[in-house]
Amino acid sequence: MTKLPTDPAENLAALIRCPSVTPDDAGALGTLERMIAPLGFVSERPVFAEDGTADIENLYARRGGDGPHLMLAGHTDVVPPGDAAAWSHDPFGAAIDAGAMYGRGAVDMKGGIACFVAALARLVERGEAPAGAVSLLITGDEEGPAINGTAKLLRWATERGEAWDACLLGEPTNPDAMGDMIKIGRRGSLTGTITVSGTQGHVAYPHRADNPLRGALALGAALVAPPLDDGSAEFQPSNLEITTIDTGNRATNVIPATVTLTFNIRFNDRWTEQTLKAEIEGRLARAAEDSALRPGKDGPVQYRLDWMAPVSPVFLTRNAALTEALAQSVAAVTGRTPALSTSGGTSDARYIKDYCPVVEFGLVGRTMHMIDEHVALDDLETLTVIYADFITRWFAGQGAE
Ligand SMILES: [Zn+2]
Repeated sequence: MTKLPTDPAENLAALIRCPSVTPDDAGALGTLERMIAPLGFVSERPVFAEDGTADIENLYARRGGDGPHLMLAGHTDVVPPGDAAAWSHDPFGAAIDAGAMYGRGAVDMKGGIACFVAALARLVERGEAPAGAVSLLITGDEEGPAINGTAKLLRWATERGEAWDACLLGEPTNPDAMGDMIKIGRRGSLTGTITVSGTQGHVAYPHRADNPLRGALALGAALVAPPLDDGSAEFQPSNLEITTIDTGNRATNVIPATVTLTFNIRFNDRWTEQTLKAEIEGRLARAAEDSALRPGKDGPVQYRLDWMAPVSPVFLTRNAALTEALAQSVAAVTGRTPALSTSGGTSDARYIKDYCPVVEFGLVGRTMHMIDEHVALDDLETLTVIYADFITRWFAGQGAE
């Protein structure tokens, strides 16, 4: 009988050795497909393309027939290693040192996938495979533009008749130790750019110029104060940051002709895209009315506001059967009560939430995207046991309903 992929470290090493820096697959999905075949998964490998972006390989694998359907989701692509010489071990070598495995993707998130596979393999080996369907929805385009990845893969699978009752996304969610945190939602993200045009001139003759920076500073001040809100029951306060102000002007004696100011907002469930845009547009219009580009000149300041697409929506998963099963598994294995959090950046959960309730739990994310990304072998074992417990617990809960 074939040896089943029950060892998460072995699974992870095989995945790390494929240098799958977005958009390259470098054999990662083929490695995964071969790994899960003995578990009874039937895999499909759709490639998605779009003008202006690289073709991306994806994997959708399913085992089991009718009954409750659990999706396990993730990505095999990784961010570049950066200066490989700065690593203490080959970023694609999967070296083990002092109880930890080193390599790009070790925690974000080939490690999570390796544990999904090991958990399922142990259940199959013990004769405890879930009665129902389990699917793996794995993309190679999460760290890149995310255009030919999870969003298209969900649509593709749905068009073929697939439907899911719940999803666990294996991104690294624990800030410091296994059991810290489950993510049950995410803030939204909205980016805008303001352009103010003036009239270029000599700084010594401001009456002959219109300085767009006078307008940009007034508009920028109106963006950052007062605060957008003071948070909600499940979310931290929304926050706006100005990320850049550019004139391209290198001369100290020239008033520039134009300036652009870009800002990003991470927003909570007290806003929708529409209400937030209306708030920002109102603030800018009032500030423009009260400011001018030249001493002694009247307003309003003329400006253009461009919203960048796509906007990431805010979401919160309210599915007790899913959230409680996961929290109970984490507590049973680690002895700790995980925080149910909506903090951090966006993830592919923003797409999955339109198809089924989704929660996120994975490894400790401290070294993700850094030089010397690594994972403790003990954490891989803990996560595998948590995932196996969760799969069993979730299916048991479905059967009881
Ligand atoms: Zn990730």
